[in-house]
Amino acid sequence: MIKRCWLIVAALLLIFAGVALAQEGAACEHKLYVRERVESTCTRHGWEIVACEKCTYSRSTNLEIARHDWTFLTEVKSTCTTQGYNKYECKSCHTFMKEELELGKHTYGTWKVVLEPTCTEKGTRVSYCLHCGAKGAASIDKLPHPFDGWTVIREATDRSTGVEERVCSACRLVESRQFYPRGTLHPEMEKNESVQILQAFLIEKGLLNSRIDGDYGKKTQEAVKKYQQLKGYEPTGIAFPQTLVPLFCTSQDKDGTEIMTNTPHVYGDWTIFEQATASAQGLRSHECVFCSYKCEETYDPSGTLRPGMEDSEEVKALQRLLIDKKIISTIADGDYGARTELGVKTFQQMAGLEPTGICYPETMEALKNW
Ligand SMILES: [Zn+2]
Ligand SMILES: [Zn+2]
Ligand SMILES: [Zn+2]
Ligand SMILES: [Zn+2]
Ligand SMILES: [Zn+2]
Repeated sequence: MIKRCWLIVAALLLIFAGVALAQEGAACEHKLYVRERVESTCTRHGWEIVACEKCTYSRSTNLEIARHDWTFLTEVKSTCTTQGYNKYECKSCHTFMKEELELGKHTYGTWKVVLEPTCTEKGTRVSYCLHCGAKGAASIDKLPHPFDGWTVIREATDRSTGVEERVCSACRLVESRQFYPRGTLHPEMEKNESVQILQAFLIEKGLLNSRIDGDYGKKTQEAVKKYQQLKGYEPTGIAFPQTLVPLFCTSQDKDGTEIMTNTPHVYGDWTIFEQATASAQGLRSHECVFCSYKCEETYDPSGTLRPGMEDSEEVKALQRLLIDKKIISTIADGDYGARTELGVKTFQQMAGLEPTGICYPETMEALKNW
């Protein structure tokens, strides 16, 4: 009976101890410290033991092997047949290391052409290494084609490009290109004065709104197209001679063909067909003294003021009159804008004149006496 009791007590004690041990193991929040550390070298691992200050926990870790401490010792140079190297020694463990170098280049003597290049095939040249005798070969670039001169295949006209061709006398290769008739102004050309003259012309016609810079850009191209459409020409945007007739003289070439010179016309005196009156435009023409190009235009009687005039003393005087007579109520700025035009129209209706919005001498006279 007593023996049995002891057994039960011992069993219970064991259970309690186990529970207590388990509780202590789970409950410890380790506070770790490095208990032992041996540093690595370049030949063996070091290690570290970390342990808990509060319990018996510990763990050990291997440290990485340290790098060799290489120092340069010698260099053995490469030749064209043997590979050289750099030799290093580790200062701590005295191991050696070789770093291989690239093979050296051959040293060639004079090169000999063994295949001459042509305009279609590359050539070849060879040489031998002065040290090892190895043979080296290299290619020679193709030669440029020996072209004959350009021949016109299709003549340019006053409104279209021509085509010309040239042939290689060796391989018969044919190259062709387009060309402009003489005097053409086009987008690929450098800035120049002739383009300035063209731009001034397009601005005057109200087709271009930009500065006169002599640069044949997008705006100039578009304006040329518009002019060509107005004239019923093909709208290429390229100022062929046909387009430039109002601007520049043409002259006869040796063989009688007309060429555009890019020299502006020089006009003689006006011939009046219809005299301008105090209330209407007249019609007149003048002729270039060099090429006889005839330019016909309508013209205003002198003293006429019209919309679009800017910063003009005469326009200011007109505006002051219109303001005085209570026809417009703006300030007199000298610019003949939409309000001034409307004011003039209004007055012309009041005075029983044709409402053109243009201040002809008749309108001005009537306004002064109103
Ligand atoms: Zn612990
Ligand atoms: Zn070492
Ligand atoms: Zn060699
Ligand atoms: Zn060729
Ligand atoms: Zn002319």
